[in-house]
Amino acid sequence: MEIKELLSIVEREKINFIDLKVVDIWGKWRHVTLARTNFSEKTFCDGVGFDASNLGYASVENSDMILIPDPKTAFIENVGGEKVLSLICDVYDANTGKPSYHDPRTILKSTLNSIKDIADEVCFGPEYEFHIFEDVRYKISNNEVTVQIDSKEGFWNSEETGEYFIGKKKGYHRIPPFDTLMEVRNKIVSKLLEYGIPVKYHHHEVGTCQVEIELNFVSALKAADYTLLVKYIARQVAKEYGLIVTFMPKPLYDEAGNGMHVHQYLVKDGENIFAGDKLYGLSETALSYIAGLLKHAPSVMAFTNPTTNSYRRLVPGYEAPTNAVFALANRTAAIRIPAYVKDAKKKRIEFRTIDASCNPYLAFSAMILAGIDGIKNKMDPTKEGFGPFEKDLYVENIKPLPYSLTQACQALKNDNDYLKLFPRELIEHWIKLKISEDREIMSIPHPKEFENYFDI
Ligand code: GLN
Ligand code: MG
Ligand code: MG
Ligand code: MG
Repeated sequence: MEIKELLSIVEREKINFIDLKVVDIWGKWRHVTLARTNFSEKTFCDGVGFDASNLGYASVENSDMILIPDPKTAFIENVGGEKVLSLICDVYDANTGKPSYHDPRTILKSTLNSIKDIADEVCFGPEYEFHIFEDVRYKISNNEVTVQIDSKEGFWNSEETGEYFIGKKKGYHRIPPFDTLMEVRNKIVSKLLEYGIPVKYHHHEVGTCQVEIELNFVSALKAADYTLLVKYIARQVAKEYGLIVTFMPKPLYDEAGNGMHVHQYLVKDGENIFAGDKLYGLSETALSYIAGLLKHAPSVMAFTNPTTNSYRRLVPGYEAPTNAVFALANRTAAIRIPAYVKDAKKKRIEFRTIDASCNPYLAFSAMILAGIDGIKNKMDPTKEGFGPFEKDLYVENIKPLPYSLTQACQALKNDNDYLKLFPRELIEHWIKLKISEDREIMSIPHPKEFENYFDI
């Protein structure tokens, strides 16, 4: 929306609060709520000062930053019956008055600007998988590590009690009454549509109380903004039903995990430049993009799969990728080429590795820069041994993806020249931060270790 239009809406609708939302390093929104009396045209150029010390950005000696709202991101929320105007913000440095190079949203914007010679637009179609639980309790103390999860569709230990409604791994596209979550998904999606988010469809997923919402194609910046908005709305609507949402990549043992597959193609001069007459109807450009993304996949994963839990999902047997290869239908491959796409305008590749525990701005930037590096170097994925592989890669372990967050971070340490728009400070900070997260989890004795080693 235009700034003038926003100001008049605030006036006309008597909106008292303007909520400024900003992403932290982990990919979570933080917010500050501005009183209407402090909101004017100037807010969009002078911004609002705030203390960024808790946003987790790299070495913020000077934590005074400025939030500048992006008028194009406006949406109106209803908070307890009161209208609130919400705006997503960019972070500016208070000293230089310029966009902060620590800000993930700024990094994605500059990434997109830096590739204009190759693509005017990067189009993303994200798929959000998540679980909706009734109750989650966990306890970590000196002598207790427990998690207890209840859901409308069964419990993790209900096999013994026979309480499974859908049954393990049998939920894919199930209908009510087995699908108990249609109503809440409808409500989530209605709200998303109200906010202008182009939802394609939603459905029950493979796992017990696991669901999915897919979007139509949008520009990469919008896809990142919408990712946070989808998570925000899903949580809030579920809460109205007394339910809890999690996007954790692998909340339940021996059930499908939550991916955030991203379908993607590049546009130049109004044309989808991924469509062509090469392998699978792709262009040379698309094949090179695939090669770049697969070559850098281990280090890209430090951003696309940045939690210790991410690596519990990427294991054989649950339709999650385990290998840095591409394929037509094979769901064990990091990249899949949707075969049913006949329309050249929609020709695309699907990166299946990424999950929603990422900071979408950093993750999308890393993915794009890896693919663009492949294009710049005219890489050919078939010559680099990246496939296509249609056989089951769970059996034949070709080009395995990193098994742990630490492994992905080590890959990032050795392979980051292609991440041109990422400040070196940020990469170093990220590696330290993420390895320390992995170390902490490693320090907790796992229940399974008692089974394996107690009698050693
Ligand atoms: N849940 C799977 C994953 O982790 C995907 C399954 C699917 O979409 N069919 O990637
Ligand atoms: Mg899907
Ligand atoms: Mg799915
Ligand atoms: Mg998919």
